[in-house]
Formats: sequence, structure tokens, C-alpha cells
Amino acid sequence: MSRRWADQPAPKLAGLLSERSILVQPIGAIEQHGPHLPLSTDVLVPEAVGAAAVDRAAAEGLDVWLLPTLAVSKSDEHAWAPGTLWLSAETLLAVLHDLGRSIAATAARKIIFLNGHGGNTALLQVANRELRRVHDLQPFTMPAGVQRAGSGRDGEPDELGFGIHAGWSETSVVLHLAPHLVDAAAFARAVPERLADHRLLGFNGRPVTFGWLSDDFDASGVIGDPTGSSAEAGARLFDEGVDFAVEALHEIDRFPLAPPRA
Ligand SMILES: [Zn+2]
Repeated sequence: MSRRWADQPAPKLAGLLSERSILVQPIGAIEQHGPHLPLSTDVLVPEAVGAAAVDRAAAEGLDVWLLPTLAVSKSDEHAWAPGTLWLSAETLLAVLHDLGRSIAATAARKIIFLNGHGGNTALLQVANRELRRVHDLQPFTMPAGVQRAGSGRDGEPDELGFGIHAGWSETSVVLHLAPHLVDAAAFARAVPERLADHRLLGFNGRPVTFGWLSDDFDASGVIGDPTGSSAEAGARLFDEGVDFAVEALHEIDRFPLAPPRA
């Protein structure tokens, strides 16, 4: 049986959903990814990870459903680049509220945002609580796939911990999923070396964060180093991402629902 929400007739789906159901909502983005990756990079990855994870989790006995990808999200850090399509924080939060209201009309309670774009992370944390409080859902959020900086070993470029956008890992995963969309002739290193001097200040994961736009570091909009990317590394990172998502779905399945609110 297809586990794609939108492929079901409405009455059939309504009859299949229960409190045990877990809805997987891939969150994408259409935003510049430098000269070598397509605008759709952050759609390709969560959609592929979500589909693979839902199929495997369903085969392992979980009641999981794949919602249609939300392709446009909060990409304002890339607004300077023509081609980027973006929603404001206010709009995206309103969209997630409306989605929550629609889900709350079914018997399902658990929804996981499988996030393909780091710029959404803070907002999805806010949405988690909003959907819990306002629509009595049990929301979760997690990144789609594994993004990590190239280590400088085993043919990986050294991204100094800053391979966060169109760098080694992301480019490798797209080489695995859609090699025809990658322009290897346009690979160029754009690592913000000056940030490596700081111990406390940096991107998410460091205690002191800062407001930034993606062309603050390099005019290409790349933050990382795609050189040395490979489909083999991408396949490995993709599989790790699917493993991670399936493990998370099992934990979500065991996670107890709070008592219904009046
Ligand atoms: Zn991306």
C-alpha cells in the first residue's frame, strides 16, 4: 500500500489514520546554492530521505505517512539571489498553523517536520510548541539527512567546521541523488576562514550566534567547499540520513501522547 498521504482517497485515509499514525512532513526550500547546485537542492534531499525512511519504517510495522513536501520556506538569507523563492517567518508560521489545523481534523496526532533547510530550524522549534498548544498535536522536528563539514582527511576538503551551504556534504548528496543537476566545473572553495579564529562565536552549535546573510562571506553564496565531493560520499551520507530518520520514527512511535486537552 502506498504510504503517500495525497495519493489516498479522503474517506479511505480518514479510516486508516489513528493516534498511532506518524505524519512525515518534508520541509524544502527553493534557494540559491551557488553556481554548481540547483535551486531545488533542499527539496530533493528531504523528499528522498522522507520517502526512503517512510517506506522502511512502514515495512518495519510503523503507521507512517508521507505528506507532500512544502517546497518554499524561510530562505530570507538568500533573498539577494534572483531565483530564490521565500516566505517570511510570519508567513511560514501561519502556513504551519493552517497545516496543523488541517491535521487536527483527522485522528492523527504525531507530525514530524523533516527539515531540509537550516534557515527554518529556529522557526520549526516555535511551530512545535504552537501546534502542541493551539491544535493539541504532538509535533517533532529533525533535520533531513546528514550535513557535516569536510574533515580534511580521506579526500575530503577541510571546511573548518563551516560546510553549511552547498559545501562538501550537500554537494555529495546531490551528486548521489541527481548528478545531472550538478555542475562540477563550477566547484569553488568558499570557506569563511576568518570565523575559524573564534571559539564561542559561530553558526548553530556555538553559544554566540549572529545574524547573517549568505553573501556576507562570499559573493557566490556558497559557505563551504564542494571540491572533493563525490557520489560515493553522498550515498554514504544519504544512507546515514535515512538510518537516522528511521531510528527517530521508532522513538516517535514509542513517545507517549499527552492526555487530550479539553
Ligand atoms: Zn541546502
